[in-house]
Amino acid sequence: MSYRLGVLLGDDIGPEVVPEAITVAKAALDAVGVAAQWIDIPIGRAAYDATGTTMPADTIDRLAALDGWVLGPIGHQAYRELGEGAFNPHPIIRKHFDLYANIRPALSYANVPSLHDGVDVLIVRENNEGFQPDRNMVVGEGEFMPSEDMALSIRVITRKASARLARIACEYAEARGGHVTAVHKDTVFKLGCGLFAEECRKVAGEFPGITFDEVMVDTFALKLAMNPKQFDVVVITNLFGDIMSDLAAGLVGGLGLAPALQMGPKYAMAQAAHGSAPDIAGKGVANPYALIMSVAMLLDWLGRQRGDGALILAASAMDGAIKETIKDAKTLTPDLGGTASTGEMGRAVAARAASLVAA
Ligand code: ATP
Repeated sequence: MSYRLGVLLGDDIGPEVVPEAITVAKAALDAVGVAAQWIDIPIGRAAYDATGTTMPADTIDRLAALDGWVLGPIGHQAYRELGEGAFNPHPIIRKHFDLYANIRPALSYANVPSLHDGVDVLIVRENNEGFQPDRNMVVGEGEFMPSEDMALSIRVITRKASARLARIACEYAEARGGHVTAVHKDTVFKLGCGLFAEECRKVAGEFPGITFDEVMVDTFALKLAMNPKQFDVVVITNLFGDIMSDLAAGLVGGLGLAPALQMGPKYAMAQAAHGSAPDIAGKGVANPYALIMSVAMLLDWLGRQRGDGALILAASAMDGAIKETIKDAKTLTPDLGGTASTGEMGRAVAARAASLVAA
């Protein structure tokens, strides 16, 4: 089989880390004999400078014709100074392709300075409703001001989104031989969180092989900060999940170690949890780990969707290669305590990915 995969570089450190992730993926795919065509699609500030918009009109159609794609970080905070055509494209993409589940692993490494050792938490975060006003309405925005002195934010929770998210979490837990924790606050948000929790309970009941419990979001923050090892798979609503996954990344060594896959029924997108990090852009020091792992998750997802064992093997070689590179600690970026550049770390991982397949 052959695949068509999109490359959307994004802003700031995007053009530094995304190409490294593609280099590693190419090395792994070549080694397992899978043909892939990588198609550049302009997005973000570069697209704005060339066309007057951060997301050209044909972007959705071009993405729909692909098997999957990689989206680099978007520096949307800087868009405020630009004109009307400058907007954050990723909520539109997530919504259009129904990428309802955001899978965010947090894994600690013994040799990387971190607040806790032995962390292996997988956060399964709802992606398209909740409090996020830029995607929780069909028309208009979920935030508005009836008067100069009052702002209202609407939070949307549906049975359908809660149940299908819980199913993804339970499937991951089943594969990891583990445990699902539903995180919410139904003591206060009796209807919204209540409905989410009810659906999680129902779905978990269909998976006799996993254990299931529930923790209030504030207690979860405390427990995660003090003893993250007690958690395995976490299913959580959108905004709570956004905050808790950054906390989880902070526990294991920072956002450079925070990959993510955005997945839906038909499409998936590799997009790291970190932003465009303008503070370190252009210095060649950004950690490519998060993007490399995000692309590995994309190839694994695609391999499972299409029943293609070679793709799954390539994904596992990428995963193994970056883990080995971190463990041997010779080619690490400064955030991980090393002195390597983004490119040096990317090339080291690519060489390892190819040799892991050959071994
Ligand atoms: P956004 O709101 O767009 O998600 P953010 O507010 O989460 O962005 P980031 O751009 O992710 O902010 O940056 C947060 C911090 O993490 C910065 O100090 C940045 O340098 C660091 N950081 C983010 N990504 C990386 C990376 N790949 N390698 C090293 N450091 C990173």
